[in-house]
Amino acid sequence: GYNLIIFFIISHLMSILGKLNPWNPSIPYEILSLNISSKLSTNSHAIKESSKDFGKIIQEILPAAVLYPSCVNDIIDLIQFSHDHSVPFHVAAKGHGHSIRGQAMAKNGVIVEMSSLNNNNNENCGVRVSWDLGLGFYADVGGEQLWIDVLRSTIEYGLAPVSWTDYLYLTVGGTLSNAGISGQTFRYGPQISNVHEMDVITGKGELVTCSKDMNSELFFGVLGGLGQFGIITRARIVLDKAPTRVKWVRMLYDDFSKFTKDQEHLISIHHNGLDYVEGSLMMEQSSLNNWRSSFFSPSNQTEIASLLSKNKIMYCLEIVKYYDDQNANTIDEELKQLVKGLKYLGGFMFKKDVSFVEFLNRVRSGELELQSKGKWDVPHPWLNLFVPKSSIMHFHAAVFVDIILRQNKTTGPILVYPTSRKRWDDRMSTVIPEEETFYCVGLLHSSSGYKECKILDNQNEEILNYCDKVGLNIKQYLPHYKTKEDWIKHFGKKWNIFQQRKDLFDPKMILSPGQRIFN
Ligand code: FAD
Repeated sequence: GYNLIIFFIISHLMSILGKLNPWNPSIPYEILSLNISSKLSTNSHAIKESSKDFGKIIQEILPAAVLYPSCVNDIIDLIQFSHDHSVPFHVAAKGHGHSIRGQAMAKNGVIVEMSSLNNNNNENCGVRVSWDLGLGFYADVGGEQLWIDVLRSTIEYGLAPVSWTDYLYLTVGGTLSNAGISGQTFRYGPQISNVHEMDVITGKGELVTCSKDMNSELFFGVLGGLGQFGIITRARIVLDKAPTRVKWVRMLYDDFSKFTKDQEHLISIHHNGLDYVEGSLMMEQSSLNNWRSSFFSPSNQTEIASLLSKNKIMYCLEIVKYYDDQNANTIDEELKQLVKGLKYLGGFMFKKDVSFVEFLNRVRSGELELQSKGKWDVPHPWLNLFVPKSSIMHFHAAVFVDIILRQNKTTGPILVYPTSRKRWDDRMSTVIPEEETFYCVGLLHSSSGYKECKILDNQNEEILNYCDKVGLNIKQYLPHYKTKEDWIKHFGKKWNIFQQRKDLFDPKMILSPGQRIFN
């Protein structure tokens, strides 16, 4: 009662001062009688900030309020309140907001700023390293943690997670809701394959601990589940001994078939093989050192540029082998054996020797440079795809050459690297192609403004339509669709189970509406 009266008075005064948005009727006033009321904000700055993401494509999807939780119970209270109300409202966890198309937004709902769990009072979160006989080393990590912080904390013990993303300023909850892929995936599986256990707050507001053996339906649903079944507040992540240094090598190819054959060969070496295999396209118009990492020296760049002016399109294979003091004397020979017989262009192999942390955090310096030039905070019409091995030559000819090279519109790195289905668990929600080997393709465009963004997005649409028309059986990674039919098609035989899990864990369809699957 009191709270409500005080709220009305403050709200009235604040809206006169222009600091508070008028109360959004989608959220019942009774929420102000909960303990979390002091952690809810309807301040227009907070509302605006929480509805931004890295993509900068979706705008003006404003929530009614933002919750800054200081502990897991705050999120439970919020979701329970929505679930139990006659007209539930949407709730979206926002990790680091690095989605492309508003996936962490919630129109007229409540955004949960997960980063505010990262405080010293919160005993559930942070990063805690442990060991036990059954699991070996592992870390219990708050869902709000950034992977860079997981790395910094675990490396103090000489340990580290085994599966990564290229960029580390993403949250554990955010990447586990998709898959978490990089050049390590062929060997260790995606990040979702390296989780022992999680604490999840379901759409009913229940806090559930789940693993392969305990509440397994929730466990498998949440991994790659696009935030649809619950909010991850803790994940138990597999750790291994961390190497101290890496040999980092790039080789150039002028022939896509040779390039992909070599990639496929490299990921098939099981005994003492590589730790990371990726690759990218090089085109005359794309800069050789992009934000993903500056690798080539100025003289290398001149050499490569003259080659590119002849070839128009080339391919850069990128590999890494970890090492430490124990094999420092033999690592060069090991690497020599691994690259023996590869068909890159003679003389076009470039090497670096850097610390493990520097390698894993390689994207950060490029990000800071772009930020300083005001080029990071721009629209990013990215398209990420999984392409089956049997389609990759066709995809190359039709998409890379006929669409992208011909239209001359690339404005960012284009990644192409194979991975193996073996390390994925089909019970998890992420959808991948049926074939044993498939390629991860990332068109990581940055645009100078909305006009260019639209042009690139039309190109993305053209690519998707083409692949669909000729039946290349690709799947979108970080998927986005406009209609339910498209989602059903995306999930294919996994749709029924996805829907059943939604009914089970979020029956009122409260969570992550920005994915636009059920809303
Ligand atoms: P957000 O954008 O905040 O959220 C994403 C979705 O997850 C939303 O639906 C949200 O509601 C939900 N969510 C957030 N937190 C939780 C939680 N705790 N529990 C349940 N649901 C939650 N991906 C890769 O796999 N490999 C890469 O190498 C890679 N590199 C990237 C580089 C850059 C520069 C960027 C911008 C993205 C990259 N991504 C990569 C994609 C990235 O993994 C996803 O966009 C991821 O969702 C971003 O994490 P986030 O913390 O910013 O999530």
